[in-house]
Amino acid sequence: MSIEINWNEAIKPLLKKYKGEKHPLQFKSLYELMVMVVLSAQVSDKLINSLAPKLFKAFPNMQALSHATAEDLLPFVNKIRNFANKTSWLLEMAKQIKNDKNIPTNMEGLTALPGIGRKSANVIMREMKVDKEGIIIDLHTLRVANRLGISEDSNPISLEKKLMKMIPQKDWEVGMALSFLGRDVCRPTNPNHEVCVMRNVCEYYKQTV
Ligand code: SF4
Repeated sequence: MSIEINWNEAIKPLLKKYKGEKHPLQFKSLYELMVMVVLSAQVSDKLINSLAPKLFKAFPNMQALSHATAEDLLPFVNKIRNFANKTSWLLEMAKQIKNDKNIPTNMEGLTALPGIGRKSANVIMREMKVDKEGIIIDLHTLRVANRLGISEDSNPISLEKKLMKMIPQKDWEVGMALSFLGRDVCRPTNPNHEVCVMRNVCEYYKQTV
């Protein structure tokens, strides 16, 4: 572990590189984002982006979704992993929220909804541009943080807690920035060290040279 590294400083080039980067899910409203976030768990954003337009044509808002049944949704979601559970979460969520204007804007309200954990809530709050209450930890964030030597945690919640203690709140965009790096550069196989802004502080890279 690189306990000597000042991660507050070391992450600055990363935050700069991905400043203002748009989330890969192509949504047009907060309602669409919420639905897509639920559907995208353990599924590629690309698949969700390709299926979402037809779904949103049929169910354009929370109100329309709140009147839907699982059979109504089936043709739009049946290619998505774990679609049965995701469908029941979405229908229950829509019944609770009823209208787009009732969508919660904080961690407590979002995580009280079915199918929304801390990661999803953090993603939604990022796109809503409200004050961050946590740090996005997805599979990319976890892999890159482990490779860098920030943490050996394999549990997203404990990594999030660790980062929240280590990094000041103004830089809590770090979770998404690490995720972007993992999608673009630090891929699971053949990470592209040569173009990586974190190369100078990376444990994994040090072991390869
Ligand atoms: S230097 Fe390589 S292993 Fe380290 S974060 Fe960058 S791409 Fe990943």
